[in-house]
Amino acid sequence: MRDLLSARIQALNIPFDQRAFTPDMRSEYDYVVWATYGLGPGRGLFKGVKYQVAEKILIQLPPALQGISLVVVDGPFTAFDPYGSSPRSLFGSAKNTNHWTTTNPDEPIPDIYQPLLNRPDFEPFPSTRFEAMRTDSVLAVPASKDAVYLGSRFTIRVVEDNPAQDRRTLYILEREKGEIFVFSGKVVSAVKAARLVTARITDGAKS
Ligand SMILES: Cc1cc2nc3c(=O)[nH]c(=O)nc-3n(C[C@H](O)[C@H](O)[C@H](O)COP(=O)(O)OP(=O)(O)OC[C@H]3O[C@@H](n4cnc5c(N)ncnc54)[C@H](O)[C@@H]3O)c2cc1C
Repeated sequence: MRDLLSARIQALNIPFDQRAFTPDMRSEYDYVVWATYGLGPGRGLFKGVKYQVAEKILIQLPPALQGISLVVVDGPFTAFDPYGSSPRSLFGSAKNTNHWTTTNPDEPIPDIYQPLLNRPDFEPFPSTRFEAMRTDSVLAVPASKDAVYLGSRFTIRVVEDNPAQDRRTLYILEREKGEIFVFSGKVVSAVKAARLVTARITDGAKS
Protein backbone atom coordinates (compact mmCIF):
# COMPACT_ATOMS: atom_id res chain seq x y z
CA MET A 1 0.00 0.00 0.00
CA ARG A 2 2.88 2.35 0.82
CA ASP A 3 4.35 1.89 -2.69
CA LEU A 4 0.95 2.36 -4.35
CA LEU A 5 0.26 5.60 -2.47
CA SER A 6 3.79 6.93 -3.09
CA ALA A 7 3.39 6.29 -6.83
CA ARG A 8 0.01 8.06 -6.93
CA ILE A 9 1.29 11.10 -5.04
CA GLN A 10 4.32 11.35 -7.32
CA ALA A 11 2.13 10.95 -10.43
CA LEU A 12 0.24 14.07 -9.29
CA ASN A 13 3.57 15.96 -9.05
CA ILE A 14 3.11 16.57 -5.34
CA PRO A 15 6.51 16.83 -3.61
CA PHE A 16 6.83 13.80 -1.34
CA ASP A 17 9.81 13.53 1.01
CA GLN A 18 10.51 11.29 3.92
CA ARG A 19 12.32 13.52 6.36
CA ALA A 20 11.70 14.98 9.78
CA PHE A 21 9.75 18.24 9.94
CA THR A 22 11.58 20.44 12.43
CA PRO A 23 10.46 23.73 14.05
CA ASP A 24 12.95 25.76 11.97
CA MET A 25 11.04 24.74 8.80
CA ARG A 26 7.75 26.22 10.04
CA SER A 27 8.17 29.63 8.41
CA GLU A 28 8.42 28.04 4.95
CA TYR A 29 4.77 26.90 5.07
CA ASP A 30 1.35 28.49 5.56
CA TYR A 31 -0.12 25.27 6.96
CA VAL A 32 1.37 22.23 8.66
CA VAL A 33 -0.69 19.08 9.05
CA TRP A 34 0.63 16.78 11.76
CA ALA A 35 -0.82 13.36 10.92
CA THR A 36 1.15 11.62 13.66
CA TYR A 37 -1.51 9.41 15.32
CA GLY A 38 -1.56 11.50 18.50
CA LEU A 39 2.17 10.88 19.04
CA GLY A 40 5.30 12.96 18.60
CA PRO A 41 4.36 16.65 18.47
CA GLY A 42 0.67 15.68 18.90
CA ARG A 43 1.22 13.74 22.10
CA GLY A 44 -1.05 14.98 24.87
CA LEU A 45 -3.14 17.19 22.56
CA PHE A 46 -6.03 14.77 22.24
CA LYS A 47 -7.85 14.34 25.54
CA GLY A 48 -9.48 11.12 26.71
CA VAL A 49 -7.04 8.79 24.98
CA LYS A 50 -4.85 6.05 26.33
CA TYR A 51 -1.42 4.94 25.18
CA GLN A 52 -0.66 1.26 24.99
CA VAL A 53 2.44 -0.81 24.39
CA ALA A 54 1.09 -3.23 21.80
CA GLU A 55 2.64 -6.50 20.63
CA LYS A 56 2.45 -7.64 17.01
CA ILE A 57 3.23 -11.35 16.63
CA LEU A 58 4.68 -13.16 13.63
CA ILE A 59 3.56 -16.78 13.33
CA GLN A 60 3.77 -19.72 11.01
CA LEU A 61 0.35 -21.27 10.44
CA PRO A 62 -0.22 -24.74 9.01
CA PRO A 63 -0.37 -24.73 5.16
CA ALA A 64 -4.19 -24.83 5.06
CA LEU A 65 -4.36 -21.44 6.85
CA GLN A 66 -1.48 -19.70 5.11
CA GLY A 67 -2.50 -16.79 2.89
CA ILE A 68 -5.84 -16.52 4.71
CA SER A 69 -7.03 -13.40 6.50
CA LEU A 70 -9.54 -14.02 9.28
CA VAL A 71 -11.11 -11.96 12.07
CA VAL A 72 -13.28 -13.53 14.76
CA VAL A 73 -15.62 -10.69 15.66
CA ASP A 74 -17.49 -12.44 18.46
CA GLY A 75 -16.22 -10.56 21.52
CA PRO A 76 -12.62 -9.33 21.93
CA PHE A 77 -11.46 -10.35 18.48
CA THR A 78 -8.69 -12.69 17.46
CA ALA A 79 -7.29 -12.30 13.96
CA PHE A 80 -4.59 -13.48 11.64
CA ASP A 81 -3.49 -11.98 8.34
CA PRO A 82 -0.88 -12.97 5.77
CA TYR A 83 2.39 -11.12 6.37
CA GLY A 84 2.82 -9.51 2.95
CA SER A 85 3.35 -12.17 0.31
CA SER A 86 5.31 -14.43 2.66
CA PRO A 87 3.89 -17.75 3.95
CA ARG A 88 3.91 -16.27 7.46
CA SER A 89 1.08 -14.49 9.27
CA LEU A 90 0.51 -11.78 11.82
CA PHE A 91 -1.49 -12.64 14.91
CA GLY A 92 -3.77 -9.90 16.31
CA SER A 93 -6.03 -9.65 19.33
CA ALA A 94 -7.90 -6.75 20.86
CA LYS A 95 -7.78 -8.53 24.20
CA ASN A 96 -4.28 -9.93 24.54
CA THR A 97 -1.80 -7.70 22.76
CA ASN A 98 -1.71 -4.78 25.22
CA HIS A 99 1.23 -5.07 27.59
CA TRP A 100 1.01 -1.69 29.30
CA THR A 101 -1.47 1.18 29.29
CA THR A 102 -1.52 4.74 30.54
CA THR A 103 -3.81 7.73 30.14
CA ASN A 104 -0.98 10.09 31.13
CA PRO A 105 0.86 11.26 27.98
CA ASP A 106 3.90 12.17 30.09
CA GLU A 107 4.23 8.84 31.86
CA PRO A 108 7.49 7.18 30.75
CA ILE A 109 7.30 3.84 28.97
CA PRO A 110 8.60 1.16 31.38
CA ASP A 111 12.26 0.22 30.92
CA ILE A 112 11.37 -3.31 29.86
CA TYR A 113 9.47 -2.05 26.77
CA GLN A 114 11.28 1.16 25.82
CA PRO A 115 14.17 -0.56 24.00
CA LEU A 116 11.76 -2.90 22.20
CA LEU A 117 9.65 -0.20 20.53
CA ASN A 118 9.61 0.07 16.73
CA ARG A 119 12.50 -2.30 16.16
CA PRO A 120 12.95 -3.33 12.52
CA ASP A 121 12.68 -7.10 13.02
CA PHE A 122 10.51 -9.62 14.82
CA GLU A 123 12.42 -11.14 17.72
CA PRO A 124 11.43 -13.75 20.34
CA PHE A 125 10.02 -12.13 23.49
CA PRO A 126 9.85 -14.30 26.64
CA SER A 127 6.53 -12.82 27.88
CA THR A 128 4.78 -12.94 24.52
CA ARG A 129 0.97 -13.24 24.56
CA PHE A 130 1.19 -15.85 21.79
CA GLU A 131 -0.13 -18.75 23.90
CA ALA A 132 -3.18 -16.81 25.11
CA MET A 133 -3.95 -15.82 21.53
CA ARG A 134 -3.53 -19.34 20.21
CA THR A 135 -5.90 -20.57 22.93
CA ASP A 136 -8.54 -18.02 21.84
CA SER A 137 -7.96 -18.65 18.16
CA VAL A 138 -8.41 -22.43 18.48
CA LEU A 139 -11.96 -21.90 19.78
CA ALA A 140 -12.97 -20.65 16.32
CA VAL A 141 -10.25 -22.14 14.09
CA PRO A 142 -9.13 -25.55 15.46
CA ALA A 143 -6.31 -25.90 12.89
CA SER A 144 -4.60 -22.86 14.39
CA LYS A 145 -3.50 -25.07 17.31
CA ASP A 146 -0.44 -25.84 15.15
CA ALA A 147 0.55 -22.17 14.90
CA VAL A 148 4.26 -21.67 15.63
CA TYR A 149 5.55 -18.51 17.32
CA LEU A 150 8.35 -16.77 15.37
CA GLY A 151 8.77 -13.40 17.10
CA SER A 152 7.30 -10.11 18.26
CA ARG A 153 7.54 -6.41 17.54
CA PHE A 154 6.24 -3.63 19.78
CA THR A 155 4.83 -0.20 19.12
CA ILE A 156 2.60 2.41 20.75
CA ARG A 157 -1.12 2.20 20.04
CA VAL A 158 -3.29 5.23 20.87
CA VAL A 159 -6.98 4.59 21.44
CA GLU A 160 -9.89 6.40 23.00
CA ASP A 161 -10.13 5.70 26.71
CA ASN A 162 -13.55 4.13 26.36
CA PRO A 163 -13.30 0.42 27.22
CA ALA A 164 -17.03 -0.19 26.74
CA GLN A 165 -16.94 0.77 23.09
CA ASP A 166 -13.27 0.58 22.01
CA ARG A 167 -14.05 3.24 19.39
CA ARG A 168 -11.33 4.33 16.98
CA THR A 169 -12.69 7.76 16.11
CA LEU A 170 -11.06 10.38 13.93
CA TYR A 171 -10.18 13.69 15.60
CA ILE A 172 -8.80 16.83 14.00
CA LEU A 173 -7.78 19.90 15.88
CA GLU A 174 -6.16 23.19 14.95
CA ARG A 175 -3.96 24.14 17.87
CA GLU A 176 -3.23 27.55 16.41
CA LYS A 177 -3.87 28.99 12.99
CA GLY A 178 -2.16 26.88 10.36
CA GLU A 179 -1.20 24.05 12.76
CA ILE A 180 -3.56 21.13 12.19
CA PHE A 181 -3.22 17.88 14.13
CA VAL A 182 -4.86 14.63 12.98
CA PHE A 183 -5.53 11.65 15.21
CA SER A 184 -6.74 8.95 12.87
CA GLY A 185 -7.92 6.03 14.96
CA LYS A 186 -8.11 3.63 11.98
CA VAL A 187 -6.54 3.43 8.54
CA VAL A 188 -9.99 3.79 7.00
CA SER A 189 -10.26 7.30 8.50
CA ALA A 190 -7.48 8.58 6.23
CA VAL A 191 -9.66 9.76 3.33
CA LYS A 192 -12.15 11.43 5.64
CA ALA A 193 -9.26 13.13 7.45
CA ALA A 194 -7.88 14.43 4.15
CA ARG A 195 -11.30 15.84 3.19
CA LEU A 196 -11.77 17.53 6.56
CA VAL A 197 -8.28 19.02 6.50
CA THR A 198 -8.79 20.26 2.93
CA ALA A 199 -12.10 21.90 3.94
CA ARG A 200 -10.50 23.52 6.97
CA ILE A 201 -7.64 24.96 4.95
CA THR A 202 -9.97 26.13 2.18
CA ASP A 203 -12.30 27.80 4.72
CA GLY A 204 -9.31 29.29 6.56
CA ALA A 205 -7.96 30.77 3.36
CA LYS A 206 -11.35 32.45 2.70
CA SER A 207 -11.63 34.04 6.15
C1 LIG B 1 -0.52 -2.16 16.92
C2 LIG B 1 -1.49 -1.40 16.08
C3 LIG B 1 -2.46 -2.07 15.37
C4 LIG B 1 -3.36 -1.38 14.57
N1 LIG B 1 -4.28 -2.10 13.87
C5 LIG B 1 -5.09 -1.47 13.00
C6 LIG B 1 -5.99 -2.20 12.18
O1 LIG B 1 -6.04 -3.43 12.23
N2 LIG B 1 -6.80 -1.50 11.34
C7 LIG B 1 -6.74 -0.12 11.24
O2 LIG B 1 -7.48 0.44 10.43
N3 LIG B 1 -5.91 0.60 12.02
C8 LIG B 1 -5.09 -0.05 12.90
N4 LIG B 1 -4.24 0.69 13.68
C9 LIG B 1 -4.33 2.14 13.64
C10 LIG B 1 -3.60 2.72 12.43
O3 LIG B 1 -2.26 2.23 12.42
C11 LIG B 1 -3.62 4.24 12.52
O4 LIG B 1 -4.97 4.69 12.55
C12 LIG B 1 -2.95 4.87 11.32
O5 LIG B 1 -1.64 4.37 11.14
C13 LIG B 1 -2.90 6.38 11.46
O6 LIG B 1 -2.33 6.89 10.28
P1 LIG B 1 -1.55 8.25 10.26
O7 LIG B 1 -0.97 8.40 8.88
O8 LIG B 1 -2.42 9.35 10.78
O9 LIG B 1 -0.34 8.09 11.33
P2 LIG B 1 0.90 7.05 11.31
O10 LIG B 1 0.59 5.85 10.46
O11 LIG B 1 1.23 6.85 12.75
O12 LIG B 1 2.05 7.86 10.59
C14 LIG B 1 2.63 9.03 11.19
C15 LIG B 1 3.96 9.26 10.51
O13 LIG B 1 4.45 10.57 10.87
C16 LIG B 1 5.84 10.46 11.04
N5 LIG B 1 6.31 11.62 11.84
C17 LIG B 1 6.15 11.86 13.17
N6 LIG B 1 6.73 13.04 13.51
C18 LIG B 1 7.24 13.55 12.36
C19 LIG B 1 7.99 14.72 12.04
N7 LIG B 1 8.33 15.64 12.97
N8 LIG B 1 8.38 14.94 10.76
C20 LIG B 1 8.06 14.04 9.79
N9 LIG B 1 7.36 12.89 10.04
C21 LIG B 1 6.97 12.65 11.30
C22 LIG B 1 6.04 9.12 11.73
O14 LIG B 1 7.37 8.67 11.57
C23 LIG B 1 5.04 8.25 10.95
O15 LIG B 1 5.64 7.69 9.81
C24 LIG B 1 -3.32 0.03 14.48
C25 LIG B 1 -2.33 0.73 15.20
C26 LIG B 1 -1.42 0.02 15.98
C27 LIG B 1 -0.35 0.78 16.71
